[in-house]
Amino acid sequence: MTFRQRYTGLIDRYRDRLPIHDDTRIISLGEGNTPLIRLHHIPKMLGKEVDIYVKYEGLNPTGSFKDRGMTMAVTKAVEEGSRAIICASTGNTSAAAAAYAARAGITAFVLIPEGKIAQGKLAQAMMHGSIVLQVQGNFDAGMKLVKEVAEEAPVTIVNSINPYRLQGQKTAAFEIVEELGRAPDYHCLPVGNAGNITAHWIGYCEYSRRDDEIVTHACAFCEGHCRFGGGITGNRPKMVGYQASGSAPFLRGAMVDNPETVATAIRIGHPQSWGQAWRVQEESNGWFDECSDAEILAAQKLLAEKEGIFCEPASATSVSGALRDIERGRIPEGSTVVCTLTGHGLKDPDTAIKQSTRPVLTIPAELDAVKRAILGNL
Ligand SMILES: *Cc1c(COP(=O)(O)O)cnc(C)c1O
Repeated sequence: MTFRQRYTGLIDRYRDRLPIHDDTRIISLGEGNTPLIRLHHIPKMLGKEVDIYVKYEGLNPTGSFKDRGMTMAVTKAVEEGSRAIICASTGNTSAAAAAYAARAGITAFVLIPEGKIAQGKLAQAMMHGSIVLQVQGNFDAGMKLVKEVAEEAPVTIVNSINPYRLQGQKTAAFEIVEELGRAPDYHCLPVGNAGNITAHWIGYCEYSRRDDEIVTHACAFCEGHCRFGGGITGNRPKMVGYQASGSAPFLRGAMVDNPETVATAIRIGHPQSWGQAWRVQEESNGWFDECSDAEILAAQKLLAEKEGIFCEPASATSVSGALRDIERGRIPEGSTVVCTLTGHGLKDPDTAIKQSTRPVLTIPAELDAVKRAILGNL
């Protein structure tokens, strides 16, 4: 019997592709290595010949893909001697920042929009001992403040404008290519600040360069941190970004001042990776589209009921948009499609319970009552 080597996180796994030194102290919680699940029932319901996979990023240590970027950002902050990190967040960045700061033994300050953060995420930020600043404004207002205060106080910003965040997040594309043996034809993601769609494109570009040698190269996205080459795959996907209709600057072609959506993780009107994301769309021949809140919630429920996969509302935006584009033929039959499920459904139990149509039945503690309930529901 041979034993598999213990998995110790994405920095260790991909250290030759990341800006890490041999003696860097790595701050990790075993993030990455998430399941790529092939959907069974939903493609059949559509009646279309497509392979749809979901990359279940909700299974990261704090329940979202933000851990991929945070392990890098906090590792580098500690290496550079920082004692404190700061971020603005719609919830998941603050949860990840709080956890990785605890792991590193440093302080995290998190700015969240008052009343607009899902319960689970707030619980995480509080539980991990971060200093939670509830801002009377939205994410964009918090982001502006973070940028300003970091000019004057000794804190490292760990939002996705920190280039190490995207470096960590690009590893999701590596994992997908390694599992499929090639890049998918389409990669669909929910878009908020557009850091993740940019990071995935970096990952696919790095793996698709044919040179056997891995070379460091400053591309339009990375400030000189990217490592291209290795010739792992010959193809790159079309990148497709979906936004919530009430919070869709990429569809309006301009910033949105009062974004509103049930998908609080992408309730962002002033995306920080605006220019990069347009470039990704152009280079990959992809597109942006929007989904209504009702469509997003329907997709969230469909995944939970038909496939057994529970993601948060923002995450379901990728599947909602992809299914519509498959139905319309914009994504043609015969395609391999990957949808990123960015965060776990348990992050936002309130929204889930509110939209659940199956009532919880209250019964007396008697055998007959249980039997009646079973027979009545078979
Ligand atoms: C952060 C986040 C997003 C948006 O990612 P961006 O990189 O900001 O585009 C989407 N879904 C969830 C669950 C998130 O936490």
